[in-house]
Amino acid sequence: MNSERDFSDIITSLAKKRGFFWGPSPEIYGGISGFYDLGPLGKLLKNRLENQIRSAFVRANFWEVECPTVSPAEVWKASGHLDGFIDPVTQCTKCGQVYRADNLIEEKAPDINIAGQSVEQLSETITKVGIVCPSCKGTLGPVETYNLMMQTRLGLDQDAYLRPETATTTYLLFKRFLTFFRDKLPMSVFQIGKAYRNEISPRQGMLRLREFTQTEGQIFLLEKDELEWPQFEDIKNEKLPLVTYQAQGKDKLDPVMTRMSEAIKKGYFQKPAYAWCVHLAYTIFCKMGFSEKKIRLRQHLPTERAHYAADAWDVEIHTDSFGWVECCGVHDRGNYDLTRHQEFSKENLHVKVDKKPVVPEVLEIAFGIERPLFCLIDNSFQPESEERDTDWLRFPPEVAPIQVAVFPLMGKPELLGPATEIFNQIMDAGFVSQFDTGGSIGKRYRRQDEVGTPFCVTVDYTTIEDGTVTVRERDSMDQVRIHKENLVEGLKNLIRGTIQFSSFK
Ligand SMILES: [Zn+2]
Repeated sequence: MNSERDFSDIITSLAKKRGFFWGPSPEIYGGISGFYDLGPLGKLLKNRLENQIRSAFVRANFWEVECPTVSPAEVWKASGHLDGFIDPVTQCTKCGQVYRADNLIEEKAPDINIAGQSVEQLSETITKVGIVCPSCKGTLGPVETYNLMMQTRLGLDQDAYLRPETATTTYLLFKRFLTFFRDKLPMSVFQIGKAYRNEISPRQGMLRLREFTQTEGQIFLLEKDELEWPQFEDIKNEKLPLVTYQAQGKDKLDPVMTRMSEAIKKGYFQKPAYAWCVHLAYTIFCKMGFSEKKIRLRQHLPTERAHYAADAWDVEIHTDSFGWVECCGVHDRGNYDLTRHQEFSKENLHVKVDKKPVVPEVLEIAFGIERPLFCLIDNSFQPESEERDTDWLRFPPEVAPIQVAVFPLMGKPELLGPATEIFNQIMDAGFVSQFDTGGSIGKRYRRQDEVGTPFCVTVDYTTIEDGTVTVRERDSMDQVRIHKENLVEGLKNLIRGTIQFSSFK
């Protein structure tokens, strides 16, 4: 739709103007699609999101690791990526343009179900339907497979690939984990790091990147743990916005708030451990600042699932730019990965159960950080209005790139001194603060509104007299004076959302 297109342009140009992200990168050399730079505010926002993710995983008893981003070819042979991480492509025989064959068919002939079709079948479909090159109407060549991994070389002649996901590199540490966790399953680990996918002509800006930061949480466990998962008790009464695959038809994608215990009873989830992972993924997205109304959990249709996946649910975020955007996958990977790496590495990647070797199962939560980052900017956007002569960003205080700005009324030494002291106290409390001395207070408020800073503190001559400062809230534009001794504690409560600004004195 036109209006949707327009909105994503608004967000992208705002993000570029205010220093959230720039690109495609490298801009001065024309830019390559699928690559973006994070500007100062984008980097601060990403750090905030990462910290929220990190603390949610750590609270759920996951341990963080970090692995190399380059691995030799044999790893990707074993993982199945060398043979299976492929897109079907077709090249125009006249103008040479390359297209994703499946996307092209879905676009031109949406009624044809092409799930699971081989390249030969896709070629036939293109011929049968009579699809031609969208740009020059030329004949399309045969559909071929194209591997999405980026290749590189180690030393003179060893083939290697940049990892297309962090998960595989986590699995390679299984034996080390056994020692670390003293041979006790379940073991939960996570990784946050770069991954690379050589997408064919990626579009949709920040939503489809060739280099991105991925977060993946993995639980290694036995089949019996999947069914007897004590932590499920803690969340059984929680309600999640679920869209089961049975419920998915035309216009029937509204989520239904469903109690977790009921979802198990009704068979939406087979395994309590898996259901707990879906709940954790939901919690992480709430922690990143998404409103409950903008999140839904959608089950994959049986035709959408990877061949080894027993079940798969996505976290989707509603945006004004693109409608619902898939942001995170929760996967039941079975023991596929460890079995393959055991076979290829010839190392034992199993545990003993009743003296018999058993390869553990894996449950996974996987997502890139750039998508939620874009969606959060989209969700936070507030247009210019009568009260405010600029559009602004309503970031939740906990994840705002700058949480508190500090303004001395004027750049005079008698004000700079106490203002700097307050600025340092706020930084020491663990918040990101900005010290701004430029222009009128009104202009400074406006600049902070534009980048979504929830609170501003002004130090003026009254501060010298009675020790009070002015705190201004972004959303209401209300101001209160409080004593500077109560400031940091008050800001902590405001940013954590444990008190409302209206009750803040
Ligand atoms: Zn063409």
